[in-house]
Amino acid sequence: MSKKLVAGNWKLNGSLGANERLLSALAALPGVEMAVCVPYPYLAQAKSALQGIALGAQDVSEYASGAFTGEVSAAMLVEFGCRYVIVGHSERRALFAESDAVVGRKALAAQASGLVPIVCVGETLAEREAGQVMDVVGRQLAAVLEVAGADAMARMVVAYEPVWAIGTGLSATAAQVGEVHGGLRSWLRTHDVDADGVRILYGGSVKPDNAAELFAVNDVDGGLIGGASLVAEDFMAICRSA
Ligand code: PEP
Repeated sequence: MSKKLVAGNWKLNGSLGANERLLSALAALPGVEMAVCVPYPYLAQAKSALQGIALGAQDVSEYASGAFTGEVSAAMLVEFGCRYVIVGHSERRALFAESDAVVGRKALAAQASGLVPIVCVGETLAEREAGQVMDVVGRQLAAVLEVAGADAMARMVVAYEPVWAIGTGLSATAAQVGEVHGGLRSWLRTHDVDADGVRILYGGSVKPDNAAELFAVNDVDGGLIGGASLVAEDFMAICRSA
């Protein structure tokens, strides 16, 4: 496996001034690949401020062009210097009604344009309590596999983000993370995806004080960081733990 990948998800946060302060305090580190996924209007600002840190977006259209008001295509993100794009974040699934099939088509559109999709999967608390974790994440992955195929999927990043751990301060335990990440890699293998090279990130209330423990878990190839990516010293500390 290559270096761990730690990607910040700024969500709907930022301003030109606040971004300038945050971006100027980020510095590439040896031994870890870092990325920040910023709101669309700030892609150019982030691109010119970052050195050795990859740029990403938080969503992408499934369409290439046309009468789709408000959409942003994968080719546009490439023009603005993006390497990564998050697809299927649970906030988009829950708040913007993105179905598994839409997420699959977005992942394919992203990859076809040369981006690396970070495909988010994860269960709600009710689904965990009902013992359905692998059913849920398997169904979410299957929708991507069906659209994109096994070869394409082997070049994607998967992020396991239990919905109940996102923005709640309640991270999954190392044991829970290890179980699901191992399950995800097995799922990929049994579906003929060359799973050894697929980075599987963990996301959900990763902070400087739990990052090292989570990153040390088997099959954890990095992290997707929400709230803590908005605080430069926290994001840098998390990246140093990777
Ligand atoms: C996220 O939104 O992708 C996330 C992991 O958020 P947080 O780190 O704030 O839980």
